[in-house]
Amino acid sequence: MASTAARSVVPQKDLESFQAHLNSSTRILALLGAGLSASSGLPTFRGAGGLWRTHDAVELATPEAFGRDPGLVWQFYSYRRHMALQAKPNPAHYALAELARKKEGFMTLSQNVDGLSPRANHPPEKLKLLHGSLFDVKCSEFFCKHTESNNYTDPIVPALAIPTDESDPTTISALQARELDISDENVALPELAIRDLPRCPKCKRGLLRPGVVWFGEMLPTQVLDDIDKWMADSKKIDLIMVIGTSAKVYPAAGYVDSARAKGAKVAVVNMDRADMPASGLYKGDWFFEGDAAQIVPEILKSVVGEIKEQPDLAVEA
Ligand SMILES: [Zn+2]
Repeated sequence: MASTAARSVVPQKDLESFQAHLNSSTRILALLGAGLSASSGLPTFRGAGGLWRTHDAVELATPEAFGRDPGLVWQFYSYRRHMALQAKPNPAHYALAELARKKEGFMTLSQNVDGLSPRANHPPEKLKLLHGSLFDVKCSEFFCKHTESNNYTDPIVPALAIPTDESDPTTISALQARELDISDENVALPELAIRDLPRCPKCKRGLLRPGVVWFGEMLPTQVLDDIDKWMADSKKIDLIMVIGTSAKVYPAAGYVDSARAKGAKVAVVNMDRADMPASGLYKGDWFFEGDAAQIVPEILKSVVGEIKEQPDLAVEA
């Protein structure tokens, strides 16, 4: 893991004022988005140049699509699981996990489904996944509550293996080179039999499905309740860090406003100055422009120390 100690990417004055505030903060929130995972080399779901074109991804990420063609939807998610497992947690994921161990009153809300924060050993009770995870699977039967967390098996069933033959046009490298996706009509996909898809081990009837929030679905109630409780328990919130997300959409935007209403200063870490929370920045807030993987460990260093090589829990598993 590269050290960021050699050169500072953050203006010294901003670094000093931020760290002075961080050191004395007791109630801290972090809001994480796709920009954090982009630092790990993972294409964003909607981002320009992303491997999956928006309309394809949106069409596949619905309960209706799963009902109509579970084989195709599972191939899409098997591919996304595979890509996420190719990426590694970056120093920002490890620094945030360490901050969670050092600061009792630190809570992280993530919009990412890529499993990188769990793999960086972020304490699970301090990590709320607003959109679920690619590595959670659950039964698709309405009355069966079976769920599995941190299932890193790739492929999840043999039929969902991604071809590795270089001459095959559906291999990862071939797809990346052509910026195609597996739902492209020019890429032949194997027809999958329902019996070859992952099946619920509990009810033995339902298909397992990815534990992500699909378009048209509610955000996980337990997660929202936990966050509401944390907010309600906070008389004052000292700081909210907005990392790799514009926090313009619900519920993320609301959390920035709620934290601010309880006195929080806002620190934004983003590649693009245009990606700003809807309420903008106030005097005394911070904007750290650049790569989260470099900036986050640097600004948190006064509490977490130097971030060293760490185990990746998906590899350990
Ligand atoms: Zn079941």
